[in-house]
Amino acid sequence: MEMKELLKIGKEISLLGKFLTLASWDQETETPEGGQEGLGEMMEYLSGLYYAKSTDPVLKEGLEQLSKEELSVKDAAIVRNMKEGLDRMAKIPQDEYLAYQRILTRSQSLWAKAKRENNFDMFKDALKEIVSYEKKFAGYTRTDEACLYDVVLNQYEKGFTTAKLNEFFCLLKNEIVPLLKKIQESGIDYQKPYEGTVDADVQEKYNKKLAEYIGFDLNRGVIKRSEHPFTTGLSADDVRFTNHYYEDKLESAIFSTIHEGGHGMYEQGVSKELEDTAVAGGASMGVHESQSRFYENLIGRSKSFWNPIFSDLNDAYGLKMNLDDFMNYINRAEASLIRTEADELTYSLHIMIRYELEQMLFNDEIEVEDLPCAWNQKVKDFLGIDVPNDAMGVLQDVHWSGGMFGYFPSYAIGSAIASQIMAAMKKELDVEDLLMKGDLKQIKDFLDYHIHQHGSIYTTNELLNKMMNEEFNPQYYVDYLKEKYTKLYHLD
Ligand SMILES: [Zn+2]
Repeated sequence: MEMKELLKIGKEISLLGKFLTLASWDQETETPEGGQEGLGEMMEYLSGLYYAKSTDPVLKEGLEQLSKEELSVKDAAIVRNMKEGLDRMAKIPQDEYLAYQRILTRSQSLWAKAKRENNFDMFKDALKEIVSYEKKFAGYTRTDEACLYDVVLNQYEKGFTTAKLNEFFCLLKNEIVPLLKKIQESGIDYQKPYEGTVDADVQEKYNKKLAEYIGFDLNRGVIKRSEHPFTTGLSADDVRFTNHYYEDKLESAIFSTIHEGGHGMYEQGVSKELEDTAVAGGASMGVHESQSRFYENLIGRSKSFWNPIFSDLNDAYGLKMNLDDFMNYINRAEASLIRTEADELTYSLHIMIRYELEQMLFNDEIEVEDLPCAWNQKVKDFLGIDVPNDAMGVLQDVHWSGGMFGYFPSYAIGSAIASQIMAAMKKELDVEDLLMKGDLKQIKDFLDYHIHQHGSIYTTNELLNKMMNEEFNPQYYVDYLKEKYTKLYHLD
């Protein structure tokens, strides 16, 4: 097979995938309750076509042959990405794969019901089946990984192993758990700097302006509403994200805008030459999350970012907040139960709980029925608080019901990479000064140049190496958190 022919097939697969993306976007934002079933049927039919197209034996043979040829960096990456997906699929017997998909479809609603009714037992058996399938499939697809959990980790973060992540999380545990304890003992409790509510429509208008201010291009993007904010996209020219406006929690939408805007700018920044190929998306879940967290935490929670635009915020919302009070409030740290609402400091501790439990499941060190108890103990150990019920504990996240084991670590990896990128950026740019001047373009240009344009041609460590001659190094992140929170809570 010629590379030209492979690109043609790749484009057909990509176009089918875009229809599926469009359908799921519509499902989350527009489709009425009554239309959900019909849309589901459309999506199932389309998924069948997508699966057939991406597992075509002719394609498989072509990839086999092309992977042995001398190709450009870009073409080799396209062949690598397509081949990896196909090789993995080929190792899983089709009847088992389909049986697992049916379990996953059913388990979503079982989990939602169990969470609603606060009853882990309702979800327990489905989760047992999911874990057993995940382990079985990891066994089928395992190549040279040291343990089964490394196989699922590599699906989301290539090149990252349990050995490497244990070091990372151990560092976090040793540094952040005591830091949080000191904060809890300091007696400082930063209060909300405003009272009352702001209408969702008013917030929506302001947040669109804020998205444009950080660099999200609304000529090539759309912002709608949904229950939980998320980003998706058809191409660099059509990137979409959602927000949720709480009338009495103004900071929620603001930081969702900056976070999803970070994801969105990554997608908008991918080189047009990569469009409709297997390297068009972001490099990995962790790198994607590094972009959203870079903007959300390192840019969006800094005083120099808010300085030039703070009066606009007060004006838009009819408030008279003081900037320092606002800064203290949006940066405060406190132990809480729900991961998605956690602050910058405690967030990674929530991830660590999930990481340790997933590892135990894959190493046969714990049974599914013992998860709630183990969960609650870890929350007590790391965050120092009690879990009142399973809905606010082990049942809170959707991931396990979707079989997404190995995914959680990428959230923490992303936060750590964000700090590493900031260190590299500060060698080239006076970031503080740019923010004070309201000039965010150079910041985006830096990320476009070093990260965004490359799509998924390079792995996480290859990207970091190209940018700063260094692989993943979480020390930047730990140093940043220690310095920031020691100052904020006067701990020295
Ligand atoms: Zn994100």
